[in-house]
Amino acid sequence: MKILNLNEGSFPINFSIKLETVDVPNIGKLQKDLLVEAEIQKISKDLYRCAGHMKGHFNDTCQNCLKDTEVEVSNNINVTIKDLTEMHHDSSEQDQTHYQDLEYFDLHRFIEEELAIIYPDIVKCSENCLEGEISRGKEKNLPFKKIRDLIE
Ligand SMILES: [Zn+2]
Repeated sequence: MKILNLNEGSFPINFSIKLETVDVPNIGKLQKDLLVEAEIQKISKDLYRCAGHMKGHFNDTCQNCLKDTEVEVSNNINVTIKDLTEMHHDSSEQDQTHYQDLEYFDLHRFIEEELAIIYPDIVKCSENCLEGEISRGKEKNLPFKKIRDLIE
């Protein structure tokens, strides 16, 4: 765990981190390392900005045909960071704001949250897997069919 105190010290903070494991629900299994290179800048008191890049490969499963599928995540990070106490009275409605205790800023938690946002919602083995597999997907939703057949 890497904790930064963003209330003190000099800026910008540059970091380059390799995470061997990530604790993010509902995503694939990380292969090798997740590489994060970024910079945290102080914009004003209680307002920070993180810009950089995140890259990693994951083993996942195609949502349609359940085939093993490799997911490459290679995305820019560009997010505003504010203190947790700002969360409730923040009216700016910025789409990308990360809230955390700035005095005990957990870099890994930040990265995991960003990864959860960046990671694709739909994992497909190929672009056109969807159409061909819809019918099969429907059958999968009938787990009791076989049991029913047995009873009859
Ligand atoms: Zn597929």
